Amino acid sequence: MKQLYKSYEDSTKIFEEFQEKFPDYFKVESIGQTWEKREINLITISKNIKSADKKPALFFTGTIHAREWVGHEVGIEFATYILNNIDTDPTLQLYLENSTIYMVPCANPDGYEYSRTHFSFWRKNRRQNADGSYGVDLNRNFPIGFVSTTATTSNIYGGPEPFSEPETRALRDFVEAHTNITIALDYHSQGNVFFPAHDFRHEDTIDTTDMNTLCANMAEEIRKISGREYGIHQGKPPAKLISGSGREFYYSKGIISSVVEVGTRNISDYMGDMNENLREHIPALLSAVKEVPNYSKTNSVFRVSSFEVSEIGSNHVNLTWDYTSNKDVFFEVYRSLRDKSFCKESNLIARTQSFEFNDINLSSNKDYFYNIRVVNKKTNQKSPFFPQIKVRTKIDYDEFSRTYYANAAGTGYVSENINDNAKHFGVNSLFVGVDENKGVSYAIITINAKSLPDDALIKSAAFNLYPINRVSTTIEKYGEWNVGLVDQNSMGIITSFDDVSNMKILKYIGRPTASHQLTQGIWRTWSLSGIECEFLRDSILDDKIVLRVEGPKELMIGRNRQVMQWDIGYGKFGFGLPYRPRLELTYTLKPTVTTLYPKKVFTVSKDGVKADEIASGFDEKGHSIYSTFEFNLASLPPYSDTFITKAYFELNSKKIYIKDDIRFHLEFVDENIDTDYEGITNREIIQNIGYDVSANELKNNQTQYFMFDTFAGMTLNDKLKNRSDISFVLKPTSSKKVLKNKNISWEVNNVSLSPKLILEHIPKRRFPVEQVTNAKLITENGRVKLSWSNPDNIDFKGVKVIKNAYRKPLSSHDGQKLYAGLDNYTFDDFGAQDTDKYYAIFVYDDVPNYSKPIILEYKAK
Ligand SMILES: [Zn+2]
Repeated sequence: MKQLYKSYEDSTKIFEEFQEKFPDYFKVESIGQTWEKREINLITISKNIKSADKKPALFFTGTIHAREWVGHEVGIEFATYILNNIDTDPTLQLYLENSTIYMVPCANPDGYEYSRTHFSFWRKNRRQNADGSYGVDLNRNFPIGFVSTTATTSNIYGGPEPFSEPETRALRDFVEAHTNITIALDYHSQGNVFFPAHDFRHEDTIDTTDMNTLCANMAEEIRKISGREYGIHQGKPPAKLISGSGREFYYSKGIISSVVEVGTRNISDYMGDMNENLREHIPALLSAVKEVPNYSKTNSVFRVSSFEVSEIGSNHVNLTWDYTSNKDVFFEVYRSLRDKSFCKESNLIARTQSFEFNDINLSSNKDYFYNIRVVNKKTNQKSPFFPQIKVRTKIDYDEFSRTYYANAAGTGYVSENINDNAKHFGVNSLFVGVDENKGVSYAIITINAKSLPDDALIKSAAFNLYPINRVSTTIEKYGEWNVGLVDQNSMGIITSFDDVSNMKILKYIGRPTASHQLTQGIWRTWSLSGIECEFLRDSILDDKIVLRVEGPKELMIGRNRQVMQWDIGYGKFGFGLPYRPRLELTYTLKPTVTTLYPKKVFTVSKDGVKADEIASGFDEKGHSIYSTFEFNLASLPPYSDTFITKAYFELNSKKIYIKDDIRFHLEFVDENIDTDYEGITNREIIQNIGYDVSANELKNNQTQYFMFDTFAGMTLNDKLKNRSDISFVLKPTSSKKVLKNKNISWEVNNVSLSPKLILEHIPKRRFPVEQVTNAKLITENGRVKLSWSNPDNIDFKGVKVIKNAYRKPLSSHDGQKLYAGLDNYTFDDFGAQDTDKYYAIFVYDDVPNYSKPIILEYKAK
């Protein structure tokens, strides 16, 4: 397994050869010596190597942890790739014209050699500690958040003081002397995940979006090569922050920085996984090199100064932004369907010089993520991103939505070889898969869906789980994770492994999640098809839904587990309530059908007006004969609690047939139509209802339906507001210039054949309840406390509080959720006191309609 990996001596030799062969592109030098007197190699790659330090640069480090061999290999392979291709690839030429690549492929040569030749899983360097033990974890030896301990034998012992080690001092000195570095990537194994830097505060920073996007763009290159999905996880609340790591040190120097955790093992099968990892990371690294000039301190293309949502509808979102006027720039707007997504050509939805963009044809009740950056069209240099906008489009006129979370008592995991599985419920993460000690494990998730009406028709549903960790729960490339709807009638006891294992599954939902799609920091979603939504509806018993999550059941030889850890959101290991398993539903209701009969009908011709008679056609002189219909909407329930979801008009002809080419048009007209010939010919048409009908068709179908389109339906809903009369006109047309004495009579008095306006409607509140009052923000024991008074309204269902450091949120999804429920206060437990931010308090009803937010502004102390 080990022989194909290069030794430190091998790579030194390779780099010296490169320097000889490619003197204009490549340079190797020592930036210091290790405890065991090895030179720490730094290589530089650029076009015209003499000016390398004058260009913005990427800083690559690898194998700072001795057993994480991948960094060293990626470094060698990346350099080899560039040197072999630079003369033929114009993109590479351009990148290295504008940027420089510095690499320390192996930042811990002593540890690496010790791991390679003696103790494979050695992690630290080879310092001899005062007590005779060996090693300092170099990635705990940097000053940001440094933790001082005396636990020298610990694998994460950070040394006696920051920069106590020659290896970290060499990195420090190089970085401090090279202020042209704009992006730093530190390669580790394993986990298939990016860990962008943070500033040791539990808040999004101005460049969080930049770091997430940089990592997402790299991840997308990887996905293109192997289908493998990398996660992105900034390590924010309430996760522990890593102390004394290089990543945070580089970030503290103004460098965009991330750790890259490659692969599924520390030392992987070279011919198998390692080869694939090398192949994936070359295009990923190149996508990072492409961004290097955009983060240069001398980049004069600044990010926009604001990025706001000005309007949200059920199928559109309007965005606005500000920028110092400059005719040389344009804006790029990107839209994604998930958080922390890439920004590439494929999701670039606008290039514009305008300061606004209206995105249309969106789906209702769906999350959208928007990013913006500025491009100088002359230099092609791009700005950093403004912090990302997250919105959820409104529900459609006939829709309701629900977000249901797992309930603690009914949610946990059961393992084959554990006796007391009940103790996991409501406490531990959900471990699902197979483990040599625990055996097979399933998760059971119970969801209370009490607020779902019995007649709800589920239009769409998605079940979401948050992958909490896959670094310690190693995952090989096999197996899949599925979610099944449990038949609760024969369910047995949910804390008994045998009962869970024997449960009847009504239906598995969504697409399985394959092992290479597992990562951390990015929600995994199982979306239900229409048929699965019906099964979901039918699986509800006593207002409860029970789901079983299952993974692979057999181990590969030599491996001891294939287990995924999903967050439960409860207990001391959970990331908190927002990370509970979650079911999102969009539903509508079975409509009530109301049939309205006309108040009045008239036939209007040049000769006069006849009540209670419907004829339409042409008189003996060839003038049109019209019919009019008047209805009243007063029998419907009130506008504020009713939506008309569907409307159509029924008309039955008398059995008189004519061959002539007459077509009949039904018009929705202004309510105040005068029923004389003059009035009819001057009528104002709102919209034609449905399609025209020919006299010939009446031979086969005496009954004709005219369907309302979206616009006519909206107008009809509007008319309900005043419960006003509404009128329709039946108009004949002919393709002949003159047609005389031809007309059709329509049924009036026979109830079953009479003209009818058929309306389907559902009870639904149109407007949110009133906002909270007395909203206040105070600092209590070092935490921000928000309090308010809830509205006194029977339809009030709760408040939702979010925070956003960069804009006043218009959408209740555009920020970090702090609270949702019926209380009248909440705390911002992890908020930093030294950053400005907005808190927004929304009120919602049972639809839910969200009120406009009350915004509280926090000023940094
Ligand atoms: Zn590591």
